[in-house]
Amino acid sequence: MRTPFSRIDPHEYEHDVEHQRALLMEKYERCNFCNSRIIFTHDLNVNYLQVIETGRCPGCGVSLTPRKYTLQ
Ligand SMILES: [Zn+2]
Repeated sequence: MRTPFSRIDPHEYEHDVEHQRALLMEKYERCNFCNSRIIFTHDLNVNYLQVIETGRCPGCGVSLTPRKYTLQ
């Protein structure tokens, strides 16, 4: 027999997941120095199947360390 306490409200759960995802994205896209939104550019290197992601802050001009992703 189910009790009211074990019931999970699907709306409540969905909202929580979305909220967590939003927090994660926001943390990822903010500058550590001035809290501006980081602008990311992606350069595709087709020969090596690599994507080079470069982030730059429009607020204080700080450039992030480029990251390389290998396409599978
Ligand atoms: Zn900044």
